[in-house]
Amino acid sequence: MGAKQLGKPGLVPCLAYGYIAVVMPVASGDPQPLVRIVRVSRVYRRGVDEVRALDDVSLEIPPGQFVAFMGPSGSGKSTLMNLLAGLDRPTTGEVWVAGRRLDVLDEDALARWRARHVGLIFQFFNLIPVLSARDNVALPLLLTRLDKRERLRRAEIALRIVGLGHRLHHYPRTLSGGEQQRVAIARALVTDPDLIVADEPTGDLDARNAEATLRLLRHLRTDFGKTVIMVTHDPRALRFVDLAFHLDKGQLLEGAEAARAQEAVAMAASGGVSRGG
Ligand code: ADP
Ligand code: MG
Repeated sequence: MGAKQLGKPGLVPCLAYGYIAVVMPVASGDPQPLVRIVRVSRVYRRGVDEVRALDDVSLEIPPGQFVAFMGPSGSGKSTLMNLLAGLDRPTTGEVWVAGRRLDVLDEDALARWRARHVGLIFQFFNLIPVLSARDNVALPLLLTRLDKRERLRRAEIALRIVGLGHRLHHYPRTLSGGEQQRVAIARALVTDPDLIVADEPTGDLDARNAEATLRLLRHLRTDFGKTVIMVTHDPRALRFVDLAFHLDKGQLLEGAEAARAQEAVAMAASGGVSRGG
């Protein structure tokens, strides 16, 4: 499908030949969404208790967009993100990503799919403390057929893309929070995924590093044609994304409700008032 054509040529040639070599234009007017969620619900069961974390959510995300899922704490943002990243399966409904239906795959097939198509970024970076920045970034490439030399070379290029070409041999504890998150972004990028997914990537960063992280994620979309999906309650994110979906109590807000939520976030951003979540 179109999304595939857009996603694949981006980083492999870039990782093979260097950053300047390939600046991918984002194809416009692609009729095929990269992500399609159809009437999805996710119910968690704890003993006799049921939590309906997502309640009949449908949405589409075109390829090559920077998208935010916003909403208060517990509104289902991470649950939704986990479904489209192939980390979890819905109770009912369909999840399609890059032409593949994920909700029918078993655990193993889902893990294999994830390794090839998704780059994950977390709030607390999740770097391995005993590995250098370069070895952390090269880690996802262990699941490929690339030899060690090539793995390290691609890791170096990914680190250069995030502005850390001078920190290859540093260990996570010797890097600042902002630098650690950039290593994590390089690790998400190194396999040239269709989709980069980030759960509260600015949640543990100060204002300056939060903005730098948002700018970098935007850069992945603009210069590499990546689809970047971010869970956030950071109102600053609105200035960087193409599209924001607002969730509340497991439901996607639409129409006037969504417009109101968007306005509230925009107001928080301009007034510097942070909403909890
Ligand atoms: P958000 O990311 O918007 O804060 P989540 O998607 O993490 O929200 O959670 C949505 C709802 O589902 C919350 O009520 C949460 O407590 C519940 N929930 C999330 N994960 C689990 C789980 N593994 N088991 C039980 N309940 C969960
Ligand atoms: Mg969450």
